[in-house]
Amino acid sequence: MQARSGSARRIGRAALALATCCGAIAAQPARADELPYALDGLPREAAAGPFRCPEVEHALYRGTSLRYDPPAFVHPGFRERLARFEEVVRDVAVETYGRAPRTVRNLGTYACRRMTTSPDWLSEHAFGNAIDVAGFDFDAAPRGEPLAAGLDRAFRSGFEVRVLAHWSGRHAHAAVHARFLHTLAARLVPRADVFRVLLGPAYPGHKSHFHFDMAPFRLVRVFEGDEATER
Ligand SMILES: [Zn+2]
Repeated sequence: MQARSGSARRIGRAALALATCCGAIAAQPARADELPYALDGLPREAAAGPFRCPEVEHALYRGTSLRYDPPAFVHPGFRERLARFEEVVRDVAVETYGRAPRTVRNLGTYACRRMTTSPDWLSEHAFGNAIDVAGFDFDAAPRGEPLAAGLDRAFRSGFEVRVLAHWSGRHAHAAVHARFLHTLAARLVPRADVFRVLLGPAYPGHKSHFHFDMAPFRLVRVFEGDEATER
């Protein structure tokens, strides 16, 4: 029990460092009603100077119902989370546009590195336990397939949705893409079975992407004033 409480204290310090470095809300322990997660017990400290990369299993994952471009390189536990993420993306895309995207454009998954904002700690990317999502690519609508209500015919062609270009969109097509991205983020936040950490444009360094991971603590900052979405 002593080891477990020591580990919990270390994780608490990592969460606090991440939260306080960037003016974020206080991170909280993972929720008690969650199932145990394979990577929860691993230390996250990064020694000064050269450090050893954690020895964890990774495998290439191209996607189940959507394709990742580039393919993800992740721990098997995180692969399950990504498959659930794809289902949420599909649901929100069908509601918004009438069809699912073909591709999840990502800026990276596995990368053995420190947290950029708190270099005493390993990034969840170092465990293959995180993904940076830049946006989604949609193919043209198949002939005869209806668009979602209210969309003009231009949405029948293929298009791209990007966090950087569309998160703050207010007019015309950009406003539809903003609604898609905002609805997707809002739908993911309460899903305890998908991700624990969700960072987006409201968090420093995340104007261009969503960062999602399964760190052993809970931190949400996607929307400005995201205290309201902490659960
Ligand atoms: Zn990231």
